[in-house]
Amino acid sequence: MNPLSLNNYKQGIELASGMFNDLAFGYATQWKALHPDRRIIGYMPIYIPREIFHAHQILPVGLFGAGDRIPVVRGDAFFQSYICHIPRTVIECALNGNYDHFDGYIFPAICDVIRNLSGIFRVNFKDKYIKYLDFPQNFSADIGGVFYRTELDRLSSDVGKLNGTTATVESLNHAITLYNTNRHLLRALDDFRMESPHIISAVDYYLIRRAGAVLTIEDYNQFLQSMTDFAKTIVKEPEDKIRVVVSGAFCEQPPLGLIKTIENAGCYIVDDDFQLGQIWLTKDIPDDTDDPMGALVDAYLNDSIHSSAVFEGDRPKGDQLAKQVRDRNADGVIFCAPSFCDPALLDRPLLERAMDKHHIRHSGFQYHENLGQFHVIKEQAGTFADMIKLWE
Ligand code: SF4
Repeated sequence: MNPLSLNNYKQGIELASGMFNDLAFGYATQWKALHPDRRIIGYMPIYIPREIFHAHQILPVGLFGAGDRIPVVRGDAFFQSYICHIPRTVIECALNGNYDHFDGYIFPAICDVIRNLSGIFRVNFKDKYIKYLDFPQNFSADIGGVFYRTELDRLSSDVGKLNGTTATVESLNHAITLYNTNRHLLRALDDFRMESPHIISAVDYYLIRRAGAVLTIEDYNQFLQSMTDFAKTIVKEPEDKIRVVVSGAFCEQPPLGLIKTIENAGCYIVDDDFQLGQIWLTKDIPDDTDDPMGALVDAYLNDSIHSSAVFEGDRPKGDQLAKQVRDRNADGVIFCAPSFCDPALLDRPLLERAMDKHHIRHSGFQYHENLGQFHVIKEQAGTFADMIKLWE
């Protein structure tokens, strides 16, 4: 099915669901068949500046693990038991040959697990380009900015050599325009869903955004526009559910069954951090400058979204989460993090305390991407919803 020739909402969800389940990355394979001289680069969560890859005519593809869709046989041998699950399915997929048509991998600096995974890939896939992309935790232009600029220039030079291309001012500005459009489209769909969460189910909404990890930005923008237009024609009655913000699931993704369970338990998810990298930058990046790489650096330093993977500086994350709850007119927060996820779980007590300070109800649990039983979570989320409906 072509993302550019959808006739209705249902077709779009089928397309997105097909791509979600396709661990062989058929769309990327077809893209490469059409562009045999170009490269495909896989990237791990959360955020990478995909504009640079577009400027080099490279297809960036998000690697979000494989959930419960493959058994982990060899992946467990690389990691101790007390870490999260996503690196196990990523290495399992790589060893199984699912990424054989990829030319390289980017591992953004989120945590030690990702750093170690980059080392494992470096040792096991010597013929591929491997980049551990470091991000500044200092947000001064003359310290973190200089550091980040060096990282991005090196990245651009590396992938340029790999692909035989140079990122020009024009090609970078054009890529920035496309990704600015993308963020607008995502926000428009998000605003619609916040107003009408009963129209697009949480799972559908997840699948729509997840398609952005696979499609070219041109196809994804078209897809988002079509899905927003289709969604606005749907007529459905809202149910008696509370509105929640889900926080903590920015890297290893929850199983679709878990997302469905939260909603079925009586909670409309009106905001989440499932595909955070796509909306990492909160404002348009200038797309007509002589220094587009500098514009990408400035945007990261000044307009990044709050996240547990980033030092909060003078922007307390708890206050930002409270603002998110108010802006979304949400009734509470569900902290939903992968087991053993250090960034999310180390932040959780601070965020919970902040929610208490702001008199915002919250509940929390952990998951792993291949979780198959949801009844405990259903009871917990259902009780949370009932408590708010009956006593608030
Ligand atoms: S789930 Fe958490 S601990 Fe695991 S790789 Fe991602 S950020 Fe790191």
